[in-house]
Amino acid sequence: MDAAATPFSTLSPLDGAPLEPVAETPIETVRELVAGARVAQAAWGATPLAERMEALWPLKDRILDRGAELARILKRECGKPEGESWTAEVLPNADLVEYWIEKIEELLAPEEVALDAMSYPGKSGQLISVPRGVIALITPWNFPVAIPLRTIVPALLAGNAVVFKPSEFSPRAGAFLARLLDGLVPAGVFTLIQGGGAQGRALVDAAPELVVFTGSVATGKKIAQAAASSLVPVSLELGGKDAAIVLADADLERAARGVVWGAFTNAGQNCASIERVYVDRKIADRFVARVVELTRPLRVGEDVSPLTTPAQLEIVQRHVEAAREAGAKILVGGEPTGVGLGYLPTVLEIEGASEQSPVMCDETFGPVLPIVRVDGPEDALARANDSRYGLTGSVWTKDLERGEQLALRLRTGVATVNNHGFTGAIAAAPWTGVGESGFGVTNSRHALKEFTRPRFILVDRSSAKSELWWMPYTVSLVKTVQALAILRSGTQGLFAKLKAIFQLLGNAPKRLMGK
Ligand code: NAD
Repeated sequence: MDAAATPFSTLSPLDGAPLEPVAETPIETVRELVAGARVAQAAWGATPLAERMEALWPLKDRILDRGAELARILKRECGKPEGESWTAEVLPNADLVEYWIEKIEELLAPEEVALDAMSYPGKSGQLISVPRGVIALITPWNFPVAIPLRTIVPALLAGNAVVFKPSEFSPRAGAFLARLLDGLVPAGVFTLIQGGGAQGRALVDAAPELVVFTGSVATGKKIAQAAASSLVPVSLELGGKDAAIVLADADLERAARGVVWGAFTNAGQNCASIERVYVDRKIADRFVARVVELTRPLRVGEDVSPLTTPAQLEIVQRHVEAAREAGAKILVGGEPTGVGLGYLPTVLEIEGASEQSPVMCDETFGPVLPIVRVDGPEDALARANDSRYGLTGSVWTKDLERGEQLALRLRTGVATVNNHGFTGAIAAAPWTGVGESGFGVTNSRHALKEFTRPRFILVDRSSAKSELWWMPYTVSLVKTVQALAILRSGTQGLFAKLKAIFQLLGNAPKRLMGK
């Protein structure tokens, strides 16, 4: 296939070897595919929940049994180390299926809505969760199976159809995911669209009932604007610039190892990657030395993946160079490996002007760990919160109570003490952000609220011929409601209330007969 004619990645980031070609979904068919999904959804949404659960149950074993195949695809297509595929893309996804199938009945169960029998005699109310309809799912390449499954599993169980467009940099992983679902749900309930931004735009323009997007801030804003023109709601999970705060009493070994993992897992191509470290200057020398010692032996391609896209490699180089020019010291790394899209895991000591450089302010999404020395917890917290992003953050300390208090003050959707960023793998834990990290929620019962709409059903068993508030509007109506207002008010005296009771008794019965 002619590389220029395809939006897809054609060379492995690991070693530049050619990747197998992928067929693009013609743009002009996208609207038709969404229409087909809408038809399929009507039947799927009406299928009893128990049947939907049964249909999706085999997905768990398919994920576990085909883990090695997935790891091979992710290694070639994204450069992901095999161990990371198993820990981030296989095992947590099996947990995810298990969690949702165990929980879905309880979470979708209709709820009685208590109605005051005096105000609403004979009436009963029920709150039901109904599927949205067709959900357009547009995802990035960094966790190309785990991220989409966090929407696909609960959305399908809740009775939606999903039209899924994976990233043009991970179409083979996207196709693998579609194969996992093969034959489990009726045709049209799950649809794969392959392509780049053009297919993504066409999908948003096809007016699905919800767009679930994970990706960059810039694309998130474009999608929100496009969706607004047809009032399609959007769920946006965007970029991050996570901070780790290392306090003077931290367990130094655990903090250093945790920070190294948090910064370099998936080569830092993780929305919750540690991209800023604020360490108490009392322990900074020892902490920095240990981080450098742990970073130096990491092998690109084995422990740390290469960058997945050429654009990412360019951003990483630009950020490191700008930081160096602004006075940052490169303690280890700081250059490409020269093999594929590899870049050496890099630790920077940030001071002075380099704290304003892009490596500290913009999302790098690469294997770069900038460290800043600070004067205690308040200084660290103020700097950590001084960001337009707010996805996750962490505090490292042996004083767990103080750690928790500080974590509560982090301006993020997720905050952890003595760990970082892995909670996206916990299906019961909501994953969300603040600021430019977006407002979408994945995982947990809160995510289900994105994939369903509340529907309120009221049944009236009253035998009265009229309601208080129905026409005609008479004097007895006004007198009745005035009396009710006095009786409910907390400021009216006893005499006024007694008078109101007589007014009510004299007028309410007339009203109920429509007079
Ligand atoms: P991206 O925004 O470039 O692309 C994401 C997806 O959007 C791709 O599928 C792409 O084809 C599609 N797309 C591009 N233009 C579009 C348009 N105009 N309309 C519709 N779709 C369009 O992001 P990326 O480079 O693939 O992913 C990296 C970004 O994702 C980082 O910023 C990272 O922080 C973020 N991310 C966030 C989370 C989270 O949970 N908050 C998780 C993972 C990644």
